[in-house]
Amino acid sequence: RDPNVKKPEWLRQKAPQGQRFDEVKQSLSRLKLNTVCEEAQCPNIGECWNGGGDGIATATIMVLGDTCTRGCRFCAVKTSKNPPPPDPMEPENTAQAISSWGVDYIVLTSVDRDDLPDGGSGHFAQTVQAMKKLKPDIMVECLTSDFRELVSSKTCKAQQRRDDNESSIMLGLGETDDELKEALADLRAIDVDILTLGQYLQPTPLHLTVKEYVTPEKFAFWKEYGESIGFRYVASGPLVRSSYRAGELFVKTMVK
Ligand code: SF4
Ligand code: SF4
Repeated sequence: RDPNVKKPEWLRQKAPQGQRFDEVKQSLSRLKLNTVCEEAQCPNIGECWNGGGDGIATATIMVLGDTCTRGCRFCAVKTSKNPPPPDPMEPENTAQAISSWGVDYIVLTSVDRDDLPDGGSGHFAQTVQAMKKLKPDIMVECLTSDFRELVSSKTCKAQQRRDDNESSIMLGLGETDDELKEALADLRAIDVDILTLGQYLQPTPLHLTVKEYVTPEKFAFWKEYGESIGFRYVASGPLVRSSYRAGELFVKTMVK
């Protein structure tokens, strides 16, 4: 973090706790599963795993291991050019964990695996299939990598949330209002209709520094602005992440 930029009150979160939180944590550890929630040090972990105010618990399972072959300068996930091979039991273990939690909605994502011939797309698809087999009515939101552009729609077409296109932007990296307006206009031009905006938080001193803590009022402005230029739904707030309250977002956008 830029030493001149002090972390404001609105970003302080209580330490995660709660019975549901403990159950999810133990189950993940027993089955050797990874989540973005933990690996990316997400500040919403207590709220998401416990079900927040709406009772819809959300966790973002990260398959293909915990080590990414890319090294984005804002991301807390471990990186290596040669990570260990994917665990062949991971699809089955993921499905078992999900069905035992009783959740109706799950976000599935992965590290990037540029070391694998198919970019990990086959393993990703197997995981979705295993989940659907054990719990056919589960809704799965797939946030896939680009699979080095090897695969576009093969893997998750049947499980896509709907026909909506969603995009997420982290603020506080030195962007100007005009640059953000231009980015939003570009997203609308390619028919993105759901947008999430959140505050970038520097995971370690080696990552990109925070240039600004955007105020909750400014986030509220961007929500109004985004919806005024045609986004169907905008979630905008300091702690908003692409998978933040994903189940709730799903319900809201379905009834709109
Ligand atoms: Fe993190 Fe994704 Fe970048 Fe990998 S590709 S370092 S998981 S942001
Ligand atoms: Fe996990 Fe996403 Fe919630 Fe963060 S916002 S705790 S990554 S589900």
